[in-house]
Amino acid sequence: MVKQIKLGRTDLYVCPIGLGTNAVGGHNLFPNLNEEVGKDLVRTALDHGINFLDTAFFYGPKRSEELISEVIKERGNRTELVIATKGSHKFVEGGVVNDNSPAYLKQSVEDSLKRLQTDYIDLYYIHYPDNETPKAEAVGALKELKDQGKIRAIGVSNFSLEQLKEANQDGYVDVFQGKYNLLEREAEKELLPYTAANNISFIPYFPLASGLLTGKYTKDMKIDDSLAKKPHFQGEAFVRNLEKVEQLRAIAEAKETEIANVILAWYLTRESIDALIPGAKRADQVLSNLRTLDVLLTEDEINEIDRVFR
Ligand code: NAP
Repeated sequence: MVKQIKLGRTDLYVCPIGLGTNAVGGHNLFPNLNEEVGKDLVRTALDHGINFLDTAFFYGPKRSEELISEVIKERGNRTELVIATKGSHKFVEGGVVNDNSPAYLKQSVEDSLKRLQTDYIDLYYIHYPDNETPKAEAVGALKELKDQGKIRAIGVSNFSLEQLKEANQDGYVDVFQGKYNLLEREAEKELLPYTAANNISFIPYFPLASGLLTGKYTKDMKIDDSLAKKPHFQGEAFVRNLEKVEQLRAIAEAKETEIANVILAWYLTRESIDALIPGAKRADQVLSNLRTLDVLLTEDEINEIDRVFR
C-alpha cells in the first residue's frame, strides 16, 4: 500500500502525490480532451494507490466532477478517497463572475454533491475570492456545511494574504491552494510563512509549471499554442528556465529518476506542503509522478535545487 499522510490539521489521510484533474473533462481549459482518456487517468491513479483527487465545478464546467463520479461508481466504494472540489464561479450573461455569498456557496456544494454522486465532499475550496463578500462570512457558510457533515474540511484558493487572514479570523481555514512552483516562488514571501505559522496545509497548483519543469522541453521544440501564451514559455525567459531545469538532470540521473520527481520531492520538503496535485494528460505521467514517493533528497540537494531556482 502507498503511504498516506495526514493533511495538515484535517482528519484526511492522503497519498502525498494526488491527481490534479483539470484535464479530466476540462474542455474549457484544454482543447480536444478525450473524456475516456480522462477517466483512465483517474482509474490509473486509483489503481495505484493515489486516493487524493483535485477537481472543481469550473473544470468542464461540471464535466470533471461528473467523469470522476463515473469512475468512482465503477469501484462501488469511495470511503478511501479524498475528493477535493471547488466553487465560486458563476456563469452569467456575457461571462463568468465569482460569487462567495453564503447562499451561492451552499448551493454550489449541493450541486457538486449531486454531480459527484456522494453525500459528503472531503475538502471544499472557495475557488476564487469575490469583491463583495466578507471573507469570514464566506468561510462561515462552509463551517456550517462542515458541522452538518456535508464537507469534511475547508479550503480557500487564490486568496491574497490579507484575504486569507480575514478568511481565517475564526481559525476555520484548513487548506490553502495557491500558485507555487520553482519558477513562480512569490508564495514564499508571505503565504507560505502564514500557512506554516497557522497550521494550514498549502497545496501548490501548477507544481510542474504546466510541464516545463519536467525536463521534457528543449529550446527548439514547437510549443503548443495554449502554453506559448504563458510567460515562462516565452523568449529569453524560456531559454533561461530550460537551463535551470537542466541543472537538475545530474541529481535525477544519480537517483535513477526523472527531473519531475526531483522537483515534486523538493516541494514536499517545504514547511506546510503536505501533498501535491500534479496534473496529467496521459496515464504514464500519473505513474511517473507517483514515483516521487521513492525519492529522498539530501540536505545538500535540497539547498542546491533552491539555489538553482533562486
Ligand atoms: P501542472 O501540474 O504544473 O502540469 C501538469 C501538466 O504537465 C500535465 O497536464 C502534462 O501536460 C504535464 N506532465 C505532468 N506530469 C508529467 C510527467 N511526468 N512527464 C511529462 N509531462 C508531465 O499543472 P496543472 O495540471 O494545470 O495544475 C495541477 C492541478 O492544480 C490541476 O490539475 C488542478 O487540479 C489544480 N489547479 C488549481 C488552480 C486553482 O485556481 N486553484 C489553478 C490551476 C490548477 P502535457 O502532457 O500537456 O505536457
